[in-house]
Amino acid sequence: MNITHIEHIGIAVSNMEEAIAYYENILGMKCYAIEEVKDQKVKTAFFMVGQTKIELLESTDPEGPIGKFIEKKGAGIHHMAFAVKGIEEALEETAAKGVTLIDKAPRKGAEGLDIAFLHPKSTYGVLTELCENKSK
Ligand code: ZN
Repeated sequence: MNITHIEHIGIAVSNMEEAIAYYENILGMKCYAIEEVKDQKVKTAFFMVGQTKIELLESTDPEGPIGKFIEKKGAGIHHMAFAVKGIEEALEETAAKGVTLIDKAPRKGAEGLDIAFLHPKSTYGVLTELCENKSK
């Protein structure tokens, strides 16, 4: 597997507007994109930190994955995403090594990336996303 960097850290928030204000006014970052990912029932907001992003996730539906996460655990770090070259091969390789995949094949995430999640039961408790920007 060829991981190049941490693409982003996903953070579940219950109030996107307040969270954006914190990142902008206290941490001095600039939100450069807000995007709804309908099939994930989530609204996302992005900040750039070096070559890594902070991805804020606000649920648009209590039954969606972020809605359920916040109900169970509250707001906080939700997942970590690694940028990888050759996401299909990376998934095949992890599955062959016994890791449980949430997504057996990549799907489209925010910013047009190809993404796939590994199950936290196989990754020492960290919901792990692999992603690849194929437009680059
Ligand atoms: Zn993500």
